[in-house]
Amino acid sequence: MCGIFGAIANENVSELLLKGIKRLEYRGYDSVGMAVYNNGSINIKKGAGEIDSINKKLNFLELEGSCGMAHTRWSTHGKPTDKNSHPHLSQNKEIVIVHNGILDNFLKLKNDLIKKGYNFLSETDSEVIAHYFEDKLKNNLSIKEAIKDFIKDAEGTFAVLLMHKFEKKIYAIKRDSPLVLGLSDNRFLLASDVYAFSDLTSKAIFFDNDEFAEVSESGYTFFDRLGKEKNKTIKEFEWEQDESNIDKFEHYMIKEIMEEPLVAKRLLVSLENEQKDNFDKLVSMIKKSRKVLFIAAGTSYHASLLGAYYLHKCGVESQTLVASEFQHFATVDKDTLVIPITQSGETMDVIEALKYCIDKKAKVFSIVNVPYSSIQRMSDASINILAGQEVCVAATKSFINQAVLLLRVAKEFSYKVNLDNISDEIRGVLDKAEIIKKLAEEIHNKPDLYILGRGLSYPVAREIALKIKEISYIHAEGMMGGELKHGTLALIEEGVPVISLISNKDYDMVSNTKEVESRGAKTIIVSNELSGDFKIETENDGKFGILATTFGQLLTYYIALNKRLPIDKPRNLAKSVTVK
Ligand code: GLU
Repeated sequence: MCGIFGAIANENVSELLLKGIKRLEYRGYDSVGMAVYNNGSINIKKGAGEIDSINKKLNFLELEGSCGMAHTRWSTHGKPTDKNSHPHLSQNKEIVIVHNGILDNFLKLKNDLIKKGYNFLSETDSEVIAHYFEDKLKNNLSIKEAIKDFIKDAEGTFAVLLMHKFEKKIYAIKRDSPLVLGLSDNRFLLASDVYAFSDLTSKAIFFDNDEFAEVSESGYTFFDRLGKEKNKTIKEFEWEQDESNIDKFEHYMIKEIMEEPLVAKRLLVSLENEQKDNFDKLVSMIKKSRKVLFIAAGTSYHASLLGAYYLHKCGVESQTLVASEFQHFATVDKDTLVIPITQSGETMDVIEALKYCIDKKAKVFSIVNVPYSSIQRMSDASINILAGQEVCVAATKSFINQAVLLLRVAKEFSYKVNLDNISDEIRGVLDKAEIIKKLAEEIHNKPDLYILGRGLSYPVAREIALKIKEISYIHAEGMMGGELKHGTLALIEEGVPVISLISNKDYDMVSNTKEVESRGAKTIIVSNELSGDFKIETENDGKFGILATTFGQLLTYYIALNKRLPIDKPRNLAKSVTVK
């Protein structure tokens, strides 16, 4: 899942390109490159590594020209090396391209071109595209005609930007990989998502599949696969400028928590636009299935529990099972829709469970964060939660986006919730970090901690407990409030901290809180309606689940900070668990 960004303006574009591609870095960070057109020449800089470090080395701003394109890569074909970095040039160096996607038949196309004498400098599938166009132009086709042929000949997915040395233009072609044209006063921008240029304009045109556009400084024209001109609708999208300077943090964990308002918004916007088809597909697959069965592990399992709750509340039969135990407890058939949820898309336990489901002919729709992952490839269809790179071993923003997506899905099945202000509400929790810091100070030395929830706050209790264990090294149990009296209550004595998650006016939870209080527990009440130690500002129970998790993530972070623990890399753990 690379990010691509193009710009045509009546000013130098290298700064625009650098800013735009930086905003797409969440889509890939193996390498970065830029190509700029300047009066009959094309200049390129590219290299393997993350944008900031490569920019320090190469200084992209030295490139001059008012038309150009940039790429940030997530390697699929060929290692992350300088040579494999995009942009790729044709052999005669007249055509340059950036590509997001996978050309399934690249080997065939490549071999045909090699036979005609073309030399390849990289191992990528993408380089084929540059030589393909050179070849077509040599045979006297215009670029537009060559694009029509490309759409016919290419198998796989692509968002391609193409420039020719003798034209101040960008040609943009799309199938399945996202592509959008941004219209700002004196500029045309092309990008993998609207977020990339949302600081410059709120007007965009989304590409449909097998559609292409010719963009010059005086305007743009869209064409269908046969080269017939198309009228397109300009969409106004909303995006408040909400980026805090997220580079200033001491740990990735807190940086990633602070990104939550932004990534939640990015996901929701994409579900209306670039990912709308996949989203509609998910909804229709749920409607067609007899039951929904989630498979997940760790944090994603807790998100799936929330999902099962949300769907169940709207009458959709749904369950979730921990991946490693899946085969012992699941009944799966062809009418089951299996939804694996995984950040990495590589979790071995999930893969094993999924193989079992595929064997039973179940339909599979995956929810992942890392694109092109094994699980995504094993699925009938998939959605990306667009949380971006998560470096801290403990999942934070990826959980939030998994839950936001599931709540958005439930909304399609009549779950009553307004998601327009979810980013503001998350920010509301982040803004009260000082209160959470104080709570962390009070409990950071305790050996045990209990978190109680019921209904939708039960998965949240489990998730907070998991965070506390992995990052703060405190033994923590997240449990159903109703289960207390069946045993755990015996452990409650003077000063034992118990966090109660009380959504709306859940009086059963209030009673459970009283029960531990009367045995001396130090309770911390987190509620949206009742008075307590931390107020979650939302009217909605579905959103309470998400916001209370952010509270728990911050609490964990500050406890670990107090204890001076290695927050981003806790002992014995790894980010992606690819063993059984
Ligand atoms: N297949 C191309 C490459 O590996 C593009 C990858 C992508 O879109 O993620 O360079």
